Amino acid sequence: MPALPLYMDYNATTPCDPRVIEALVPWLGAHFGNPASRAHAFGWEAAAAVDLAREQVAQLIGAETSEIVFTSGATESNNLALKGVFEKYHQKGKHIVTFATEHKAVLDTCRHIEKSGGEITVLPVDKEGRPDLEELEKAIRPDTILVAAMYANNETGVIMPVKKISEIARRHNVLFFSDGAQAVGKIPVNVNTDGIDLLSVSAHKFYGPKGVGALYVRRRDPRVSLAPLIDGGGHEKGIRSGTLNVPGIVGLGKACVIAREEMEQDAVRLAALRDYLEAQLLLLPDTKRHGDKEHRLAHTAHISFGNTNAASILQQIGKEIALSTGSACSSADPEPSHVLLAMGLSKTEAVSSLRFSLGKYTTKEEVEYVVQAMKGLSSKF
Ligand SMILES: *Cc1c(COP(=O)(O)O)cnc(C)c1O
Repeated sequence: MPALPLYMDYNATTPCDPRVIEALVPWLGAHFGNPASRAHAFGWEAAAAVDLAREQVAQLIGAETSEIVFTSGATESNNLALKGVFEKYHQKGKHIVTFATEHKAVLDTCRHIEKSGGEITVLPVDKEGRPDLEELEKAIRPDTILVAAMYANNETGVIMPVKKISEIARRHNVLFFSDGAQAVGKIPVNVNTDGIDLLSVSAHKFYGPKGVGALYVRRRDPRVSLAPLIDGGGHEKGIRSGTLNVPGIVGLGKACVIAREEMEQDAVRLAALRDYLEAQLLLLPDTKRHGDKEHRLAHTAHISFGNTNAASILQQIGKEIALSTGSACSSADPEPSHVLLAMGLSKTEAVSSLRFSLGKYTTKEEVEYVVQAMKGLSSKF
């Protein structure tokens, strides 16, 4: 029997890889310098550690070190990308195009921009969670400044056709921003071959520490300029002031190195486990799988369970098994997931749906335990 409680909610957050912890701990202890202290060795060694991490993040996504801005995570990176572009490019236009299945950190930021005089077009997706590219083409106007499309969806694991979207944006001379929180460190992401101008990264989604992330900002072809959200000492080239979170940044760098070496084989193993889990669960009565089967992350399954309420399933098994109905960020509100509704699920289907998100520490034994637990519950549905 696996150790309980058992964690199958890796899309909400992941545990730190022990190698990440080992790398970052010294920067909480003896090596406490401020990388902005230019006059002494304490500052120099911290600055060198940050430089190395910047290199490691850049390498994972095919960027230059000068294009990486450290932030507190993907929520901040998303805010910085959207608000920063809106403020800087409002002479050119005030129109932003995005999609209905985006994370709240994108959709709510767009709402904020709308209140500040921006215009937002939220495009629908099909029942598989994928966009209609002709609709996108039609939605772009002369005053469009940005297209925002996430790389992979946190609830369903569906991967967006990022390259095709960026080609359309580029053809219209519009910047392209992607929320990469669920993709970076899990699947290959390359800002150049994918045509990305701005990309959000979150360390705690791929075995790094919480409260740290990055925003990739393209410097060439085109050079993207951003207005800062946070003013102050002019850190990070004036785009993000505030003393750098050195331990967090070192941890993020280490997580990038590990991901580069291991994500491919992890994904192969996880796809097999996920497929087994999914096949077993779909044997239960009234179950249904959601999200594009071809274009999706290896470790995520989203399944609805007939007329049952997913929240009540979670209540019954929550002590033993950590699962989620969807986005952890909005699990405080009992509303059905906006992602599933956008894919055309009924309210009943959406509230009966559970997300199983696996990670690199998930074992076959754990998957088997979850299958048996769900079987046991389903006899009582
Ligand atoms: C987790 C997540 C975020 C928020 O990232 P934080 O680093 O926790 O702020 C944003 N977008 C997506 C797609 C996510 O999965």
